[in-house]
Amino acid sequence: MKRILLIHTGGTFGMALKDGTLAPGAFIQRIFEFVPEVKRIAEIESHIVANIDSSNIGIEHWVKIADVISANYDSFDGFVITHGTDTMTYTATALSFMLDGLSKPVILTGSQRPLSEIRTDARNNLINAVELATYSIPEVGIFFNNKLFRGNRTKKLNIWGFDAFDSPNYPPLAEVGVGIEIYEENFLKREGGKLNVLKNFSDKVFCVKIFPSVRVNYLMSLLNLDVQGFVIEAFGSGNLPNIEGRSLIPFIKSAVEMNKVVVISTQAVYGRVDLTLYQCGKDALDAGALSCGDMTTEAAIVKLMFLFGRYGGHTEKVVEEFYKPLAGEVSF
Ligand code: ASP
Repeated sequence: MKRILLIHTGGTFGMALKDGTLAPGAFIQRIFEFVPEVKRIAEIESHIVANIDSSNIGIEHWVKIADVISANYDSFDGFVITHGTDTMTYTATALSFMLDGLSKPVILTGSQRPLSEIRTDARNNLINAVELATYSIPEVGIFFNNKLFRGNRTKKLNIWGFDAFDSPNYPPLAEVGVGIEIYEENFLKREGGKLNVLKNFSDKVFCVKIFPSVRVNYLMSLLNLDVQGFVIEAFGSGNLPNIEGRSLIPFIKSAVEMNKVVVISTQAVYGRVDLTLYQCGKDALDAGALSCGDMTTEAAIVKLMFLFGRYGGHTEKVVEEFYKPLAGEVSF
């Protein structure tokens, strides 16, 4: 029987109804009472890293999870992480960058309704995540609503429906129906190697979503802070205001002159940023901004945090690495 380590971090999955709001409860201890059948799929041990709403997850939790995986890497065949849906994408993306040389499945899952409720999606998600973690899938994935996605390609798109996640620009890694379909052709082609955990992140990264009439002086004031990298979530294919009085180009120029990195992602969900398509993107490119291609804004933020953590103030190295896929988060 395969051995799976279940790592709990919190989220709705293990919450209990308290005073009308969902609060983290001591629920996980009772997980095997609610889903005893997982023990028929694999030999399971559990480890609780935290029991919090995922809005409170930060770099220190990413590091703790990676440490638990690394300490138990040789003794288990796969890892399942129960996590709140709100920031699951960020954690999955961070782990995909941290777990260099990964050759075993690391699958995050959670639920829209707690495990204790009759009409819960937690049972289905947990059972299938555990089952998929017994397969040879060398990826950090998110399993939700019968699909396994590459985690760093996902977005939380639904608050109400059971299909909380989608992977707009990359096909699923597996699907579950009557049977289990594994799409090996979509797996990362990694050179097998030893697991090497890269733990440094910088939190000196900031994300700005633009909108019509956004005040440029607000952005300019951000330049006085110690931000190392900006993600600008722009319009469409990466377009920004570029006319007199509205233009964001002076902001980009000044940031680049100050040795900061500016990357452009998009507010659109599907498709890729192309800064050569319109003058409103071309001016940003000429000012020194980088294109996120088909990377999500979430992946771009975590990638900058990771690259600045790894390369410190070596902006040129950060720029060079930003254009390389680290764990299949982008296809240029
Ligand atoms: N607020 C919860 C969390 O992310 C939502 C969920 O788990 O679905 O922890």
